[in-house]
Amino acid sequence: MSNKEFLKKLYFLQDLDLLIQQVEDPQYTEKTGLQVSPDKVEELKRKRKEIAQELRKANPMMYQRYEMLRRKYGRGITRVVNRMCTNCFAALPASIIPTDEKIITCPNCSIILIWLE
Ligand SMILES: [Zn+2]
Repeated sequence: MSNKEFLKKLYFLQDLDLLIQQVEDPQYTEKTGLQVSPDKVEELKRKRKEIAQELRKANPMMYQRYEMLRRKYGRGITRVVNRMCTNCFAALPASIIPTDEKIITCPNCSIILIWLE
């Protein structure tokens, strides 16, 4: 798996993590009036597990970092917008250039960074 694929998949995993967290929050159900069946939640969790296994195999260190950051910030990967980290809002130094050769983390908060169009 290339770094680019890894990051895209990790970003998708985070989407699933946030979604699972949301549908399991009773306030969400109350506020939106949307009921998500337990079957659907189980399906999401199964998919989550499958992707997590793939990612852990491809890059154990980065996967572990994701889990660690997720416990700390509620997310482990974030987008770069206008050369700014959208987790801690620090401006990234000019020396940081998006590349597929390595996975880049924020020098300020150490979150994993992704550049999306
Ligand atoms: Zn940051």
